[in-house]
Amino acid sequence: MPLEQGRHYLAIPGPSVIPDRVLQAMHRPAPNIYGSELVELTESLVRDLRSIGRTKYDLAIYIANGHGAWEAAIANTHSRGDRVLVLATGHFGFGWAEIARRIGVECHIVDFGRSSDIDVARLDAELAADRERAFRSVLMVHTDTSTGVRNDVAAVRMALDRADHPAILMVDCIASLACDRFEMDAWGVDLMVAGSQKGLMTPPGVAFVYFGPRADRARDRADCVTAYWDWRPRANPVEFYQYFGGTAPTHHLFGLRTALDMIIDEGLENVWVRHERLARAIWAAFDVWGADGPMALNIDRPEKRSCAVTSARVGKPDGKRLRGWLTETLGVTLGIGLGMAEPDDPEGQGFFRIGHMGHVNAHMVLGLLGAIEAGLVALGIPHGRDALAASARICAEGQGR
Ligand SMILES: *Cc1c(COP(=O)(O)O)cnc(C)c1O
Repeated sequence: MPLEQGRHYLAIPGPSVIPDRVLQAMHRPAPNIYGSELVELTESLVRDLRSIGRTKYDLAIYIANGHGAWEAAIANTHSRGDRVLVLATGHFGFGWAEIARRIGVECHIVDFGRSSDIDVARLDAELAADRERAFRSVLMVHTDTSTGVRNDVAAVRMALDRADHPAILMVDCIASLACDRFEMDAWGVDLMVAGSQKGLMTPPGVAFVYFGPRADRARDRADCVTAYWDWRPRANPVEFYQYFGGTAPTHHLFGLRTALDMIIDEGLENVWVRHERLARAIWAAFDVWGADGPMALNIDRPEKRSCAVTSARVGKPDGKRLRGWLTETLGVTLGIGLGMAEPDDPEGQGFFRIGHMGHVNAHMVLGLLGAIEAGLVALGIPHGRDALAASARICAEGQGR
């Protein structure tokens, strides 16, 4: 007897849950794109996006998804034949490298595997070996959405400084912005890419490239940049249309305005703490389940895990079975295992992921964990008992009277 009627919960790591307030803000007639409303709205968005990225520098907005931001970032900073160092900790590092390669940039990929973060000692060795200082940039992903790992951005900056290496540091924060703590200026990041559809709680379709002065100097010699992707007119427009290289994505802007208001009202620090607390509640359940069965988190050490997305292994084919059962029977959809293919599991059916980014609260997480537990019971997957009690305790921590 399916129990899925009611509000479906799409708990995949992007697109994330869109708040009703954001949807309602988008439900309105088209505005006049030549009026002052949109100019003021866009200026306010740029100002608040800067503060959410923790930077005083510029940003360009693109009508694009994350892949578009990746391409814009590379095109504005590189010439064909440039060499870049890619620090891959999952599917998305390889994805960014592929975009760079197709533009004509030569990628030296260092693969840290599918359940580890960036190993700084290995990075030190790579930078020391680059005696000609040929790497123009270092590409890394803050939170890799496939593995659930969170990389230490400041440690990569420190390695570059130790090596006195001039490469610019480019960071993908598409999954982490407004979920995991990120400090663009304090951590010495030269360029950061983000998108609307994850921590920013807005439909996919707008993406951002933040760039500091060193990245903008790289723009001076970059021969990959074309008129549409050029960040300069977008970041410093003379005419309003230049923000977007054409017609503004009007309704996305309305939605994003409301989403940023929600983040500002809650307080960015509080948003980070909420994500951390809810992530710990999720991990606590997995610890208990895994004590007596096949369930295991993909990243062992809690301090290396993202607070936005969790990647777990339950074994082939139970990841796929569990996802199917939860969608059809209980109205919750989990994410697929991404980039987790293994020789005996080419489709990654033993893995699944949970998106807990953006508009997520304790009852959603507890409901989701209860649904997973129901799935474990119904499908006969062995698991430890009382996982939900452990999660509930974390949600209750420090909240008593
Ligand atoms: C989602 C995601 C992307 C890709 O974004 P698209 O909007 O699907 O193009 C890139 N990097 C990370 C870390 C992501 O989470």
